Amino acid sequence: MSEGTDGGTLRVVRPPEDAPATADGPAAPAVLFRANCTHCRSSFELDAGALRLAIGASSRTTFYSFTCPECGEAVRKPAGERIVELLTGGGVPTIRLTGR
Ligand SMILES: [Zn+2]
Repeated sequence: MSEGTDGGTLRVVRPPEDAPATADGPAAPAVLFRANCTHCRSSFELDAGALRLAIGASSRTTFYSFTCPECGEAVRKPAGERIVELLTGGGVPTIRLTGR
């Protein structure tokens, strides 16, 4: 319960470096992120493909989003520098916002 407040509650459940380095494995095992929903407040794990990262011109316009598997609502949360690192490092698709 000593989590910081950087970007909320996103956490890496299974970071890439945790994955066993198998030479014969298919691809690298999926990175899992734990997030929770601001609508129904449930907590769940998502793989990189379920998340989207949008990087804007400033940290104010940088956020990540996903669809809650529990209630189906779209969830969008601000992504701090650290979160951006976690997400990009985990292979989350990134959208670069232009304009402004
Ligand atoms: Zn939800």
